[in-house]
Amino acid sequence: MTIQEEVNKRKTFAIISHPDAGKTTLTEKLLLSGNLIRSAGTVKGKKSGKFATSDWMEIEKQRGISVTSSVMNFPYKDYKVNILDTPGHEDFSEDTYRTLTAVDSVVMIIDATKGIEAQTIKLFKVCKMRGIPIFTFINKMDREGREPLALLEQIEEVLEIETFPMNWPVGMGKQFMGIFDRQHEQFVKYNGNEEETIIPYNELDNPENQTLVEDATYQETLGELELLDEAGDEFSLDAVLSGDQTPVFFGSALAPFGVQTFFDTFIDMAPNPNPRKSTEGLVSPDKPDFSGFIFKIQANMNPAHRDRVAFLRVCSGKFERGMSVKLARTGKTIKLSQTQQFVASSRDTVEEAYAGDIIGVYDPNAYRIGDTLIEGKDNFAYDELPQFPPELFKRVTAKNVMKSKQFKKGLEQLVQEGAIQLFTGYPMETYIIGAVGELQYQVFEHRMKHEYNVEVVLESIGERIPRWLNLEKVDTTMFDERNMLVKDREGTFLVLFKNDFALRWFRDKHKDVELIDLFEVN
Ligand code: GDP
Repeated sequence: MTIQEEVNKRKTFAIISHPDAGKTTLTEKLLLSGNLIRSAGTVKGKKSGKFATSDWMEIEKQRGISVTSSVMNFPYKDYKVNILDTPGHEDFSEDTYRTLTAVDSVVMIIDATKGIEAQTIKLFKVCKMRGIPIFTFINKMDREGREPLALLEQIEEVLEIETFPMNWPVGMGKQFMGIFDRQHEQFVKYNGNEEETIIPYNELDNPENQTLVEDATYQETLGELELLDEAGDEFSLDAVLSGDQTPVFFGSALAPFGVQTFFDTFIDMAPNPNPRKSTEGLVSPDKPDFSGFIFKIQANMNPAHRDRVAFLRVCSGKFERGMSVKLARTGKTIKLSQTQQFVASSRDTVEEAYAGDIIGVYDPNAYRIGDTLIEGKDNFAYDELPQFPPELFKRVTAKNVMKSKQFKKGLEQLVQEGAIQLFTGYPMETYIIGAVGELQYQVFEHRMKHEYNVEVVLESIGERIPRWLNLEKVDTTMFDERNMLVKDREGTFLVLFKNDFALRWFRDKHKDVELIDLFEVN
């Protein structure tokens, strides 16, 4: 098979959602729908929403699917599917955001009973910023939820994206009867936990469907459907692929209902690996020389060793185990022999991979997040990974002042690696670190202790809203604890506002000072 043919088979995506919206349940059903684990029975989720490891191991053994905490890989139809996990809950960190730089599309799950929730908005914004196509699955239609039209309106308003309902639900909760599949012109009847029945539009008049068709809810929905056909937005694949329109599917991951049609449509529409921006222009996925970038480094996967694994997204060419590649940042050659398996069939080694695949490479403490690896004579680097808006801030000091040298070294390295973001107080030079989730602090503390032998003291200054100042000099009397003045690593001033109120108050008082939100989505 040519490289292009291999690339055309790849579908690499992430599922984003707020905790409890149904990500675990849907993922499980996607695996089932590939006929991969039908006989393995239901995978029971633990309360935390995570798969029970033993169940996974059983499934892996039976079907040869590789499931790690971060990447799932399985064949579906003619495709090779890679699903990247975006951890939620207390595991939320910058890694969660960075994972989105390694996918070609995203499935957004919304709980119909709750509508859009906080974590979904955050992740969505990153997708939007990067123009990643987003497919929406509105889950839990078997429960009493919000009106479908209200849900679409909320998506359009809060997320500022056009919606196109691929199907339209009839009733919900106890009254849930099924969906009109607009694309295939068929009614899909909901039969509870039993298999769904498919009725083509032109068979709806048949006598056996009389009770369905005469139902008041059905009739009402028919009216809505006509309205959608006439007045709704037109479907545009171009708009979907540029991230300006999201196809919306209603269903129930638990039943499961509507999952198979959703997945079939999604997998055909979702983009294959695209050319990627680099310092030397766009790099095509079928370029013969291998290249890729590192979007995540996981330390201490095995507590017995100080192993680190770098997660690499292949962007071009063919990866082969044992090959020598160049680390673009340093020009050094590295042999990629110890590769971790995130690719199907056996767990320990990956022999080859193509654009879209994710591989884990052993990190001899040489890599940084965002690093580019290349084969051949060329030298280029993929676009730097973006920084993400830190929300939680803490002052950090070394417990033992005698260790300030190691403390600074550790801090510097972890910042470069992208584990945390660093700011300095002004005019008092204190160290302030920023992160998007609490987990990052735990990792920071742990690594400072175990890798740099420094115990740190962290003092929370709470959630903050960062705004940058376009000023060379500042009048320090304008700032205090509620609007804290700090500098970033480039020496640019910014203010950490305690809350919205403090931000507005400052803005009113200092109308001439421009406050810049570096993370605003355009
Ligand atoms: P995650 O945190 O997003 O991974 O969510 P889970 O998949 O663990 O689901 C959270 C809870 O919602 C679990 O109790 C699921 O059984 C339940 N759930 C998921 N999908 C559905 C659905 O379609 N209908 C109903 N009624 N419950 C669901």
